[in-house]
Amino acid sequence: MKKLSILFLFLLLISCQVNVPKFNSNLAWQYLEEQCALGARVPGSDEIELCRNYITTILERSDAAIEQQHFEAQIDSINYPGVNIIAHFYPRRSRRILLGAHYDTRPWADKEENSQLHTIPIIGANDAASGVAVLLEIANVLGKYEPPQYGVDLVFFDLEDMGDYGERETWCLGSKYFVEHFIGKEPEQVIIVDMIGDKNLNIEMEYFSYHNSPRLVNQVWQIADDLGFSQFKPEIGQLVYDDHYPFIENGYNAIDIIDFEYPWWHTLEDTPDKCSPASLDIVGQTLLQLIFSE
Ligand SMILES: [Zn+2]
Repeated sequence: MKKLSILFLFLLLISCQVNVPKFNSNLAWQYLEEQCALGARVPGSDEIELCRNYITTILERSDAAIEQQHFEAQIDSINYPGVNIIAHFYPRRSRRILLGAHYDTRPWADKEENSQLHTIPIIGANDAASGVAVLLEIANVLGKYEPPQYGVDLVFFDLEDMGDYGERETWCLGSKYFVEHFIGKEPEQVIIVDMIGDKNLNIEMEYFSYHNSPRLVNQVWQIADDLGFSQFKPEIGQLVYDDHYPFIENGYNAIDIIDFEYPWWHTLEDTPDKCSPASLDIVGQTLLQLIFSE
């Protein structure tokens, strides 16, 4: 009888143990470099169209349901075409996590000291390519392994980065459109990743995220801590109007994972040599742990 109950306990332990797949940081790094090799992915450009095709081709390797959401947004009385790319993994699942990243890059290197460089578009290795790279590798994992509980929606937002400093209505236009036209199964958790490729990675708890969704922030930072990733700092950082903000405004449980201390932000120096595969791994593995361990 005693032996039997020990065996039962052992089997129970095995059945509770969930294997979390490994994030392939080499592949994610390749995705970062390949996006940069396309050139600046500025809204309305040929390069951003190439980037859309690039993202879609990788997503199509899984059997996710893929949608393109077309919209138009006006900035300074100019109309820009925008396209959000959405991939639904395990669409029948009612419990859902939404992961998002913007794929457009800023048309103006307007944080360069030399104002003559301000009209040149940025390559955006960190500010765009890094978040997309992490999501694309998560798409690969989700194509091979089914999470125990959740379905996952990956959203690649357009038109995040064309705003005027200090005017928050001019940023995050793709995510704003997405939230305002949302139909389908509402996600329990929304996590945006942006600027997470910095070699010198330090991710504080973004201000709006912490104040809106402290439990989700604490959960993600605890997972990172359990994995030994001290780059997630348990300190409240500055506020950032990023793609999580329209979700927060509309009542979602939404956070932003961002390292905003990046000296090359909106300059021509935001190039792959400032980033590292290890940083992509830290964020990617943390997200996989969240998706697969519940
Ligand atoms: Zn930016």
